[in-house]
Amino acid sequence: MKEIIIATKNKGKAKEFEEFFKPHGIRTISLLDFVEEPQDIEETGVTFKENAALKAETMSNELNKPVLADDSGLIIDALDGRPGIFSARYAGEPKNDQANIEKVLNELRDVTEKNRTARFICVIAIAQPDQQTIFKTGYCEGHISFSETGTHGFGYDPIFIPEGYTNSMAELTSDEKNLISHRSHAIKQLEQWIQRDADK
Ligand code: IMP
Repeated sequence: MKEIIIATKNKGKAKEFEEFFKPHGIRTISLLDFVEEPQDIEETGVTFKENAALKAETMSNELNKPVLADDSGLIIDALDGRPGIFSARYAGEPKNDQANIEKVLNELRDVTEKNRTARFICVIAIAQPDQQTIFKTGYCEGHISFSETGTHGFGYDPIFIPEGYTNSMAELTSDEKNLISHRSHAIKQLEQWIQRDADK
């Protein structure tokens, strides 16, 4: 594999993957460089894995090239795993991070600190023509705070306290977040795969 298309419209994510693949001599092409106006692929799967596969395989079949896609979200134990695959639009359309945060805090208003455990999950899928799709999963454990703090990051960062920290994810610098994030844990697993298989 000498180049791979990163099926995301999120420039931050595309950059993270570019930095990972570069030392392995693999050129990353952002979907934004490749397709003028990428269509949203409908995420009809019922798991993160299905949605990541759907995005990677649809694009790979269309372009006949290797494609990486990821799907991520927040799993809260006291809410039976919600918002889960619905994380981006938990409070409805249009996608609104602030409304999502308020909905979660409201649903957890009577839940004590020790029962507010949660984790971010990231599933990466790499689809290649005529090969089986490979999957790598990363987690970031933590709990949901009672109020928002911090201005960095995105999504649920202002209410997510990573395990071993007292500050929210939105109070960490992007370098600090990258060390512990679900996406970086999934990428680390890719490292082992790439050394074993993709460099062959
Ligand atoms: P996607 O996989 O980028 O579409 O992410 C789905 C949704 O999960 C985002 O819109 C956020 O609400 C949430 N999410 C995923 N990763 C993070 C993160 O690192 N911090 C905060 N929220 C996240």
